[in-house]
Amino acid sequence: DPDLLAVRRRAGRHEHVALGDRQGVAFSDLGMCRSLIELRRYQAARPRCRSAAQVFAASHTTDMSKETQTYLAEIDLHQGRARQALATLDQVLEHGGADTDPASASAAYLTRAQAHAATHDYRRAYLDLQTYLQRYRAQNLARHLRQQETVREHALAQAEIARNAVLQHQLELTRRRETRQTETLRWVAAAGTAGVMVIALLSYILITNLRYRRQLLRLATEDNLTGMPNRRRTVELAMAALEAAGAQRRPLTVAIMDLDHFKTINDRCGHAGGDYVLREFARVSRGSLRTGDILGRWGGEEFLLILPDTALDAALASVERLRVLALGIQVPCADQEAQMRVTFSAGLATLAEGVRSLDEIIARADAALYQAKNEGRDLVRIDRESYQSASTGVRRALRLR
Ligand code: GH3
Ligand code: MG
Ligand code: MG
Repeated sequence: DPDLLAVRRRAGRHEHVALGDRQGVAFSDLGMCRSLIELRRYQAARPRCRSAAQVFAASHTTDMSKETQTYLAEIDLHQGRARQALATLDQVLEHGGADTDPASASAAYLTRAQAHAATHDYRRAYLDLQTYLQRYRAQNLARHLRQQETVREHALAQAEIARNAVLQHQLELTRRRETRQTETLRWVAAAGTAGVMVIALLSYILITNLRYRRQLLRLATEDNLTGMPNRRRTVELAMAALEAAGAQRRPLTVAIMDLDHFKTINDRCGHAGGDYVLREFARVSRGSLRTGDILGRWGGEEFLLILPDTALDAALASVERLRVLALGIQVPCADQEAQMRVTFSAGLATLAEGVRSLDEIIARADAALYQAKNEGRDLVRIDRESYQSASTGVRRALRLR
């Protein structure tokens, strides 16, 4: 609305006047001039354009000066001064409009075309009109390109914004995932620590249990006083040895030994003295036996000796060694006159034809022991049947002893 524009420009002009801004006033005047031209109020428009033209000329603002001159020419043209208008426009377009704003230059060509037409110079009018159209099209194209560029830039900016949003989203997701992983890791670490603690506890329980079981096993298989295999364990070991000997057809000899007059030792030297003798007998005999030999506590002061891979003569030698060791035991006795000697009687029996079970061999050894006791103690007796089934070499060896 040119009316409204004119009013606004008038208000703007007041401000520029108040500020003493001559250029600003000139721009306001030019604007008002343009609005008044559009309102076809050429008479009123002229002084505005004049005043603006003076300021632009004084400040050598060529482009604005030429734009203003173009408006003055338009006013002249409408007021019937076509020649004056032509003169002005020739000056404006002196450099083909290169020294002024392209839009205002093409406007100048249009106005000059109208001025030529008014002076009936249609050839020049036609030429100027052509130039005007050319420039107008070029400007349009440039504007169009500019718009396209703007649209393209806008689209790129939008794409960039969208890409940024996506990146932001991904970043947030990654951050969340990391938080979750950290959380999981913390849980795993906690679970791991708990697991290690549980394992440690279980190991502790297991070890304690094992130790306890081992202790139980010892209690169940070991004789408290001497540390020897107890009777139950001795039977187990004897059975295994017997089986192995039977399977491999190898000799095996069993001896039962019973300490002589042990009651007397107890009576004279006390029960503790008797206990000491039993422990000492176990200790010293352990040193004199081979690894495969088995010596167990069979009863109070009675011991069972199993000698695998041993025939009667060698067994007799082993028992003889034990006899010497027993003799070496110093009985701790308060009674100085006691002069106690530790001796034992023994009965021997071997694995032989017809003598196969442990019970049977032990029974035969026991019988031989009974004989030794009867014949005066501190003696070794051999089961008759075992002796008879022994090889001639063994028997000769026994006779030589
Ligand atoms: P013998 O020569 O006929 O074998 O006479 P003994 O006195 O050795 O035989 P007896 O069977 O009459 O007595 C065995 C004694 O051994 C009786 C028992 O008090 C004693 N005795 C059994 N076990 C233990 C023990 O663990 N410690 C002690 N100090 N004495 C025991
Ligand atoms: Mg006895
Ligand atoms: Mg005895």
